[in-house]
Amino acid sequence: MQNKPSLSKVLKWGLCRRCPVCGTAGMFRGYLKISDCCSTCQLDFDQIRSDDAPAYFTIAIVGHILLPLISYVEYRYSPSLMTHFIVWPPLITAMTLGLLPYLKGLMMAVMWMVKVKPNT
Ligand SMILES: [Zn+2]
Repeated sequence: MQNKPSLSKVLKWGLCRRCPVCGTAGMFRGYLKISDCCSTCQLDFDQIRSDDAPAYFTIAIVGHILLPLISYVEYRYSPSLMTHFIVWPPLITAMTLGLLPYLKGLMMAVMWMVKVKPNT
């Protein structure tokens, strides 16, 4: 039986969207689509469910970064409403879409580590 990888390796591999067991093969076959299994160690990725956790943490992180920034810009510079509409939505969208796949990989690694099983 293969040795269980350390916590830091599992988290790093998950954040890099790689298999939490071997760290060599990718878990994803698309932007958020999970592969059936690991091509190296044959870990069944269907048994690892992250559900809504990646979206939840993405919203929390992006909100905690941008909300103070938006408030500061409004307080300090008082830009027009049109400037807010032009600047913030693309930034919010880019941060959300950029962060989501990596947090999904991280959450899948965490779920594998704590051995959460899907409801059948
Ligand atoms: Zn693997």
